[in-house]
Amino acid sequence: MHCPRCEGFELDAYVHKGIEVDRCLNCNGIWLDHHELDELEDQVIKQGTSKGTLVYANRESAISCPKCHIKMTEFNYRANDLAIDACQNGHGFWLDNGEDSRIKVLLEQRIKDLGRSGKAEKLWGKSKTVGSKSFFRKFKEWLKG
Ligand SMILES: [Zn+2]
Ligand SMILES: [Zn+2]
Repeated sequence: MHCPRCEGFELDAYVHKGIEVDRCLNCNGIWLDHHELDELEDQVIKQGTSKGTLVYANRESAISCPKCHIKMTEFNYRANDLAIDACQNGHGFWLDNGEDSRIKVLLEQRIKDLGRSGKAEKLWGKSKTVGSKSFFRKFKEWLKG
């Protein structure tokens, strides 16, 4: 895959603490497959929050999906001013340099909130998606790193 931002740069696949991401070595943006953020949403945002709120303030993006090359849609991650580009064909998300760490901060806070209520581990254990429990465990390790 090519970087959607940088002409002529290939994305470099690497595994960081068990999660495979594709990173551009030129701009440090990362590509995250759709199901990864989706599963994460399923796991983290469950208590009375509609998943629909993930997409907020849609607008056309300046970049195209590295997989299908259609124009992506830029949206704000929840009520924050964190802009993410998403493929409308469901291929994945593009995060500019630094945005991945901001998402980690947001999710980490959410995990802490769930942990405080004592329901976090129970919620993760109830997951119906095969493999997402181990995925989320890996993500938790990533957050620590
Ligand atoms: Zn790039
Ligand atoms: Zn696509």
